[in-house]
Amino acid sequence: MNGISDGVAIVTGGGSGIGRATATRFASEGARVVVTDVDVDGGEETVSQIEADGGEATFLEADVTDEDDVKATVETAVDTYGGLDFAFNNAGIEGANESSSQQSRSNWDQVIDINLTGVFLGIREQLPAMLEDGGGAIVNTASVAGLLGFPNLSPYVASKHGVLGLTKTAAVEFSADGIRVNAVCPGVIETPMVARTREEDPEMMEQTAAATPIGRLGDPEEIASAVVWLCSDDASFVTGESLVVDGGYSVQ
Ligand code: NAD
Repeated sequence: MNGISDGVAIVTGGGSGIGRATATRFASEGARVVVTDVDVDGGEETVSQIEADGGEATFLEADVTDEDDVKATVETAVDTYGGLDFAFNNAGIEGANESSSQQSRSNWDQVIDINLTGVFLGIREQLPAMLEDGGGAIVNTASVAGLLGFPNLSPYVASKHGVLGLTKTAAVEFSADGIRVNAVCPGVIETPMVARTREEDPEMMEQTAAATPIGRLGDPEEIASAVVWLCSDDASFVTGESLVVDGGYSVQ
């Protein structure tokens, strides 16, 4: 894709699912990738897969809620590869499945901390490095849950609505400086996160697939394509956008 080759990308939550697929796609397009995750085995496996395919990547154990780790992630990109062009703020958790009348404060805090504060910290630390480099592109993982309400997931839904607010604000602030900031809103995608939900409620996943106009759940690679396109020069006039990739689920 235009403008990706030789760029430097950060992918958070790169040890699994959508993050792994996107790190792999960036690398196959010729970018050098800093993969971060709290899951060391998963992150190292992503890097091994990229290297086996002839790509270039580095793993850093980093928690998106830890300011020092987030700073270290940007420093790793700059020190190892000479700068920062793209960032995919993707790490996230689903949290507990409970109605709004039953949600615990600890679940609320954890989901908001990882899914929303993690994206805020990522953007804050990535922007100066991109400004230094003359521009860049950031993509944040929201969800169709950033656009619609879903039962029993109030912290998750609130966090993903918040990610869209952060995305639009940074886009308005920094697009004139050559930094485009967008969000991707996946529908239900076959990843370990969804496998966990399926274990709890197999019927719900079948119903979701049946309620999706395309007639199936998505693959992580289908989100990776959208993310790398948003970072590419082919999307040069796209900023502040919430790109929905959901097989038509949310347009019904
Ligand atoms: P996943 O569980 O397969 O991967 C998430 C990764 O994030 C894991 O490797 C995990 O270790 C990592 N992570 C969790 N907390 C972290 C932290 N504090 N710091 C760093 N890394 C951390 O899930 P996935 O489905 O690939 O989800 C990726 C993103 O996509 C999430 O933000 C999720 O909310 C979003 N999303 C997923 C779906 C879906 O259906 N799978 C739909 C919409 C949005």
